[in-house]
Amino acid sequence: MTTTPKMPALFIGHGSPMNALERNRYTEAWRALGASLAKPKAVLCISAHWLTRGLAVTTMPKPRTIHDFGGFPQALFDVRYPAPGSPALAGRVCELLKPLPVALDTEWGLDHGAWSVLVHLFPGADVPVVQLSLDATQPEAFHYAIGQQLAALRDEGVLILGTGNVVHNLRRLDVQTGAAHDWATRFEAFARQAVRARDHAALIDWRAQGADAALATPTPEHYWPLLPVLGTQAVDERAEIVIDGIELGAISMMTVQID
Ligand code: ZN
Repeated sequence: MTTTPKMPALFIGHGSPMNALERNRYTEAWRALGASLAKPKAVLCISAHWLTRGLAVTTMPKPRTIHDFGGFPQALFDVRYPAPGSPALAGRVCELLKPLPVALDTEWGLDHGAWSVLVHLFPGADVPVVQLSLDATQPEAFHYAIGQQLAALRDEGVLILGTGNVVHNLRRLDVQTGAAHDWATRFEAFARQAVRARDHAALIDWRAQGADAALATPTPEHYWPLLPVLGTQAVDERAEIVIDGIELGAISMMTVQID
């Protein structure tokens, strides 16, 4: 009988979909991260780009690559990430989340929040990937508790991957200079320090950061995937900031590894 190594949990700041095609300091960090890990049995991905009423989990054996954006070059629409799904993992997710109802989804697939980072983490597309949606009707504490309920998956060889951005304000992008807004820098620093200090209560209650929070996260969906990842953190585990930085003034690329 072989032993299964416990897998880390990751939150990746995915930024622009173009990161799927580019090689930059973020994508190089994701590649190095993927190469440093024992190969997981599967990935459970929670993306900022799949919001539902109630929870849903993908159950198809061959998830399609979803190009859920507009205005990008054809080369990005040509990207396919042909990783298999895992109906077995989807079933296990439902079991662990009981008595919460989880819809068995056969329509979604892999959105760009997932595949734009997976193409770098696991370029071979040989690790099965299942997506779990974010229930948009629920508050922060719910998203955190989902991680607590799913933490056992990490002992079963499953990599839990949250993909979003802790600062994400597309209305305040600075494409001229790219210089980080003060509020973006401050809010990323708050998140970085709270993650390192394991101050999950502060991260759940991120709106208490006031005006900075309102500007950094005008809508919460890109912040939310951090919370289930934190929810899996055991008391004896550390949280490392793999890489950070503000892109285009208003997008934090902060990436967290818990193990
Ligand atoms: Zn996004």
